[in-house]
Amino acid sequence: MTKSEFPQNLLPNNISALAAYSSAKSQKLTGTTWLNANESPYTKTFELSLSDLNRYPDPQPNNVINAYAKYAGLNTEQVLMTRGADEGIELLVRTYCENSKDSIALFLPTYGMYKVTADTHNIAINALTQKLLLEGTAEQITSAIGDSKLVFICNPNNPTGSLTELDKISAIAIALADKAIVVVDEAYIEFCPEKSAASLLQDFNNIVVLRTLSKAFALAGLRTGFMLANTELLKPVRKVIAPYPVSRVVAQIAEQALQSDAITQMRRQVTILNRAKAALVQWLKSCSAVNTVLNGEGNFVTVQFKQKEDIDNAMQSGLIMRPFTLYEQDNWLRISIGNEQELEQVKLWLEMLGTEQ
Ligand SMILES: *Cc1c(COP(=O)(O)O)cnc(C)c1O
Repeated sequence: MTKSEFPQNLLPNNISALAAYSSAKSQKLTGTTWLNANESPYTKTFELSLSDLNRYPDPQPNNVINAYAKYAGLNTEQVLMTRGADEGIELLVRTYCENSKDSIALFLPTYGMYKVTADTHNIAINALTQKLLLEGTAEQITSAIGDSKLVFICNPNNPTGSLTELDKISAIAIALADKAIVVVDEAYIEFCPEKSAASLLQDFNNIVVLRTLSKAFALAGLRTGFMLANTELLKPVRKVIAPYPVSRVVAQIAEQALQSDAITQMRRQVTILNRAKAALVQWLKSCSAVNTVLNGEGNFVTVQFKQKEDIDNAMQSGLIMRPFTLYEQDNWLRISIGNEQELEQVKLWLEMLGTEQ
């Protein structure tokens, strides 16, 4: 018997139309220096007890929830642990958006998973711009948001590093009260902690803050994030999330990563990374092959080169960074802040391209 053809007609239209999402790690690149996924260069060690793996885990491990609530300055019922901030994005879309009917608003260029998640759930995209978000008034922004259900504000924004002021986020949330949920994605907030919207949860029931252990906490491999919001908003999300989303092993590591000495260590690393970034920005600004440097927040710098070939050559030589097409131009590059040796490779490359007098 020969195997029958795969029945393509089983696929819903929105799924067959999906372009394969290319994350920083899905491309088969070969390299020696990896500065393409905004990972931390620091590694840690943890202790594990593997004796209870025959039992299902706690759906929301108490010790982790307590530790994160303390870290974020919130109550435990305002914290939901997820498999990365990416699962938080997906849970919000699945919980609050009605398939084939609702839309989400986002401000381009921004993090790619908002669109991918909406596309997989047949939710429309209301594509607005960072320019509108940063320069527009709250009235202009909310009128463009229209009747979108979820409004994704990536703060600081990946890949531009730009920050939206909390006053503006509040004004948007006030205008959208009873109409929409403002999702503030704070994946990089540890690099500028004073800009967090978490304190707005005191006053707003339509704000959600997404957090992750993948960036400053140096645990991208753990797949842990947190959704921060008030009880009523989280209640339906708690019904939609899988019954046992967090493995026992993950919970043990996350708990250790959130102890106060580990948080102190994370803050020290942030200081070092922020300082290294300032140096990288200077090197980029004095490189004659560079057009524009977006000097924003986060453990990355996004830069436009004069010629895309310079980016291609670096990638071919094993210096792996993240090329982007921004504002319809394909000569942009996002460089993650790695360790000293890794950044030295970037420096040597920039010097080879030439310095401005
Ligand atoms: C890295 C990143 C995420 C994903 O975080 P995970 O917790 O690893 O899923 C979410 N949002 C933004 C803006 C990011 O850059």
